[in-house]
Amino acid sequence: MEIALESRIPTYSGGLGILAGDTLRSAADLEIPMVGVTLASRRGYFLQEINNGSQVERRERWDPEEHAQALPAKGSVTIEGRTVWISAWLYVIKGMGGFRQPVILLDTDVAENTPEDRKITHHLYGGDQAYRLKQEIVLGIGGCRMLRSLGFNVDVYHLNEGHSALLTLQLLLRSAYPRESLMPGESPYDIFGVRERCHFTTHTPIEAGQDRFSYDLVNRIMGNIIDQGVLERLAGSNELNMTRLALNMSEYQNGVAKRHAETSEKLFPGYRVSAITNGVHTFTWANSPLAKLFDNNLPGWASEPELLMRADYELPDDELWESHNQAKSELLRNIYRLTSVEMDPELPTLGYARRITPYKRPDLLFSNLDRLRDIARRQPFQVVLAGKAHPRDEAGKRAIEFLHQTISELKGDITMAFLPNYNMASALTLVSGVDVWLNTPQPPLEASGTSGMKAALNGVPNLSVLDGWWIEGHIEGVTGWSIGNGDAGDYARDADSLYDKLDQVVLPLFGQRDEWLKVMKGTISRNASLFHSHRMMRRYAAEAYMR
Ligand SMILES: *Cc1c(COP(=O)(O)O)cnc(C)c1O
Repeated sequence: MEIALESRIPTYSGGLGILAGDTLRSAADLEIPMVGVTLASRRGYFLQEINNGSQVERRERWDPEEHAQALPAKGSVTIEGRTVWISAWLYVIKGMGGFRQPVILLDTDVAENTPEDRKITHHLYGGDQAYRLKQEIVLGIGGCRMLRSLGFNVDVYHLNEGHSALLTLQLLLRSAYPRESLMPGESPYDIFGVRERCHFTTHTPIEAGQDRFSYDLVNRIMGNIIDQGVLERLAGSNELNMTRLALNMSEYQNGVAKRHAETSEKLFPGYRVSAITNGVHTFTWANSPLAKLFDNNLPGWASEPELLMRADYELPDDELWESHNQAKSELLRNIYRLTSVEMDPELPTLGYARRITPYKRPDLLFSNLDRLRDIARRQPFQVVLAGKAHPRDEAGKRAIEFLHQTISELKGDITMAFLPNYNMASALTLVSGVDVWLNTPQPPLEASGTSGMKAALNGVPNLSVLDGWWIEGHIEGVTGWSIGNGDAGDYARDADSLYDKLDQVVLPLFGQRDEWLKVMKGTISRNASLFHSHRMMRRYAAEAYMR
C-alpha cells in the first residue's frame, strides 16, 4: 500500500513504507530483479502542523508528472459494476552499480473515470471501509493485471502486508481450468500452483493493522469474482480477512523479527511463520557527516554494510565525536527553526519519534514528572519528540496533546521540543542528531521497529523496551540499554526501569566521554553491521523467493 521513494514524495506514512522502499533500494544495489507496485497517492498522507498543542492535518499533494514517467499501458478493474481505468507511472530506483529497479504507481485519476473513481488512489489510508476496499482492489487485482500488460514476467509475488492480498484472487482466476474439463464438485482453481508463487510478510500483531471487510461490502463493491465457497475457505467464513487470505495463499510467510514471528504464530494458530528480521538501507540512513567518516575509515561500507563490524577498531574517537556533533548541530538548528526552542549542544539529548498511538506508550517517560525533574536537576538532559497520529486515531491525537502539555509543564526544568511533521528527512536528522534513541512500546506489540536501527547506524545507542528487533540487537552496555524485561504490559515496572536506567547508567556514562564513545562504536559494529536491508534482502531472496 505504501512505498517511501523520497522524502518529498508522500507515497508513505511510516515504517511499513520506509521498509518497502529500503527493500527495493537494497534489491537495486544487489541487482536482484524486482518490480514494486503501489498506489500513486496523489494527495499523500497528510502534513502535520501543531496548533496550540494539537495536531492539525493539512492537505498534501504531489504530481507524479514531476517525478515519474507516464507509461502507455492502461488497466482496469470492476468496482460496483463499473469499469475503473488505471494508469501507471514509472519511478526508477537506481542502484549503486547503476541497476534500475522499477516501481509502478497505480493511478485512477484519469479522464475516463467518474469523479468519484478518480479519487480512489488519492489518499493513503484515507476514507472509510468501502474506500479502502476499492483501493485494495486497484492495488491487488489492478496491480497484477498491470504487471502483465506492461510485459513483466513475474515468478514470485511478495505480499508486503495483507493490503495486496486480493492479487491472489486474480492469480486464481488466471489459473482456473475450463468448466467443461472439471468433474462434478471439483474446484476450477489451481490453489496449490498459485500458493507456490506467493510469499507473505506480516508486519503487525495489532488488530487495526489487519483489514477485514464484510461479505456484503465485498459483494457490493468487488462482485462475486470467484466462487463464494472457495473465497470463504481462504479468507474467513464471516468476513473477508486480508491477513487470512494472504496466509492461506502463500507458501512461505514471515514476521519481521524473531519475537514477532512467535507472536504471529500465536495470533494465527496452525500457520508456520518464519522470521526475517528487518534492516535499513545503510546508504539512505547514514547522515552525511557519518557517511564521510565511514568513507574515510571503512571504505566499501555502503555496498557491503558488514564492513561496519570493524567500526570499534577503525573509527578514531575524535572523528566520530566530531561527526556526531555535526549531526547534532544540524538537528538543534532544525529544532530552533521549527519550534523556537533553543537546545544546548553540550547536554545529552534523548530522541523519541514514531507514530503516536497508545501501544507505543509515548507517555512512559512522563509517567512520573517529579521523578523526571529530580533526575534532571542532578543530571541535566533535554528531549526531542516527533510523530504523527493517524487522523482517526483519537487516542493518538490526545497523546500528542498530552506531550505538548508536558512540554509546557516541564519548562524551566527540562528543555523539550516537539518537531512537527515527522518524515524521512526529519527522521534522518533526528536519529543521527540525538545522543540516545528511546523506544517504549508495550511488548509484544512492536513488530520490529526500524528507527532504532537507523540511530545505531549513526552511532546513537538505543534505550529501549525489549521487544521487536531490540531483543536481537541489545547487548547491555555494549549496544545500548534495555528497559524492563520484555514481559507484556507492566506499565509501572517499565517506567521505573526507564527512570533507573536513565539516572544510574545512561546519564552518568554520558559524562565519561571515552566510555560513551565505546558504546557509540558498539552500536555501529554490532547493530549496524547486521540490521541492514542488504542482509534482509539476501535472506528474502534465498529463503522466500528462490524456494
Ligand atoms: C524509520 C521510520 C519509521 C519507522 O520507525 P519505527 O521505529 O518503526 O517507529 C516511521 N516513520 C519514519 C518517518 C521513519 O523514517
